[in-house]
Amino acid sequence: MRQSLLHLPIKRSPWAFQGSRLARISAARSYASESSPNPEVYDVVVVGGGPVGLTLAAALGAARTTNNLKVALIEGMNLGPTRDWNPKPEYFANRIVSLIPSTVRLLKEIGTWKHIRQDRVQSYDGMQVWDGMTGSRVEFDWNKLWGGKDSQTDTTIAHMVENIHLSHGLLKSIDELALKPTMIDKTKVEKIEYGKMTNELDMRDWPIVTLSTGQKLAARLLIGADGGNSPVRTFAGIESRGWDYDRHSMVATFRIEDDSLFPKFAYQRFLPSGPVAILPLPGNFANLAWSTTPEKVAHLKSLAPEDFVAMVNAAFRLSYTDIDYLHNLKSGVAEETKWRESVTKYPEPPQIPVRITEVLEGTRASFPLKMKHADKYVGERLALVGDAAHTIHPMAGQGLNSGIGDVYSLVKHLADGINHGQDIGSSFTLEPYQAERYLPNNALLGFVDKLHTLYGFETGPLVPLRSLGVEIINKDWFGLKRFLMSQAAKS
Ligand SMILES: Cc1cc2nc3c(=O)[nH]c(=O)nc-3n(C[C@H](O)[C@H](O)[C@H](O)COP(=O)(O)OP(=O)(O)OC[C@H]3O[C@@H](n4cnc5c(N)ncnc54)[C@H](O)[C@@H]3O)c2cc1C
Repeated sequence: MRQSLLHLPIKRSPWAFQGSRLARISAARSYASESSPNPEVYDVVVVGGGPVGLTLAAALGAARTTNNLKVALIEGMNLGPTRDWNPKPEYFANRIVSLIPSTVRLLKEIGTWKHIRQDRVQSYDGMQVWDGMTGSRVEFDWNKLWGGKDSQTDTTIAHMVENIHLSHGLLKSIDELALKPTMIDKTKVEKIEYGKMTNELDMRDWPIVTLSTGQKLAARLLIGADGGNSPVRTFAGIESRGWDYDRHSMVATFRIEDDSLFPKFAYQRFLPSGPVAILPLPGNFANLAWSTTPEKVAHLKSLAPEDFVAMVNAAFRLSYTDIDYLHNLKSGVAEETKWRESVTKYPEPPQIPVRITEVLEGTRASFPLKMKHADKYVGERLALVGDAAHTIHPMAGQGLNSGIGDVYSLVKHLADGINHGQDIGSSFTLEPYQAERYLPNNALLGFVDKLHTLYGFETGPLVPLRSLGVEIINKDWFGLKRFLMSQAAKS
């Protein structure tokens, strides 16, 4: 059971640390004024105002041991539209994230979840996952396993939230903090270098961040929440190993036929070119994440809306050979699928999703997929969190969840360091963060990567073997299904 960030024990008065911090900071400030161009001194500089960077800023400000740290967050993009987000009722964005229960618990703790509009969140407690070649299927349904919603167990697998909605909620909770971080958006980090030795202070191991405005910030601790191509990671000389999948994820938002037939399950069918998933949204809406080759994604984007809709319905109903054939048609897909579906035997809802009827305008987009893992998460006065540390295939919906798990762990260890009178940038403070997060993240990356490879085979001995594995899981032999479901809910 995780300990609440808000109630981490204060073993020493935070002012004991604060005193020495302030002494060093005032010395540093005089360094700043003497040796222009004027680095302003911060305890923590977070680079990146994506969901992980914003969660970190909110968590540092909410935890009582870290809430008096002087924090700056730098984001290259304009956060204004996210702050002012005011969604149309009959519209959902195309970037949706599934948040597992442990992530939602943290968001509650740091005061963000109350800013998330529940009418725009869809939770689900069932998943249908099947092999597109053999049809073998695993059905994750907490209600069937635990005997319904009356049980004491939280049956939610995940909550679907628009990315912009989450970031909007995070910004609101940051605005409510007593000691607000300095939020600098529309500004890029252009250079990072180590500081200098002066008469007052040795800043040779302090990262000095130069912004596109020319402003300089000195960081007792620099945190890279700056995504897969992390400039902070590059500055630290930390290698990130992995590969491009040569796959893109096609996303889109749809209206569906009749939501009373749609049991608000998540559906994922593994095709050899990559998995195709439909995820539930409130009311008559659903979201697509279809990982496939860049050529097939280009084809999906080029189709007329009715042909695109037909193609997505076919992806859950027709054989892989049929789907491959349809990918060669520039038009007429709707007509062609009608005929092919009439001569194909496929399961009915709720084993497959109900039909989608319309794609919302402007929601078709795609993202290249890669797997990358940094060799380490910490360096000299530096830590990496989220995609800067690890980028994972989205098929398991775990990338952001594990990034938020990093935030939880890092803030907890920074608080521990403060409680023990340690410098927050020291390896004594930072190493336990890496020790806690590296191996679980590595195992998750490896598992998802193997799954991607395993389902990439169209034929061969692995195909029946993987089906056997799926059948064993589905029958809950050895409690395997329960184990997988409870692990998926943790980060
Ligand atoms: C199709 C798809 C579906 C996904 N679905 C899920 C899901 O269901 N569940 C889940 O948990 N995860 C999911 N993920 C993964 C998730 O989106 C990422 O893990 C998450 O967005 C990473 O957040 P981040 O803040 O670490 O990085 P990012 O979102 O990449 O943010 C990094 C930020 O740093 C800023 N930045 C970079 N360089 C600089 C610089 N030099 N100066 C200033 N700012 C800079 C960028 O502007 C950016 O805002 C999905 C991913 C994809 C592609």
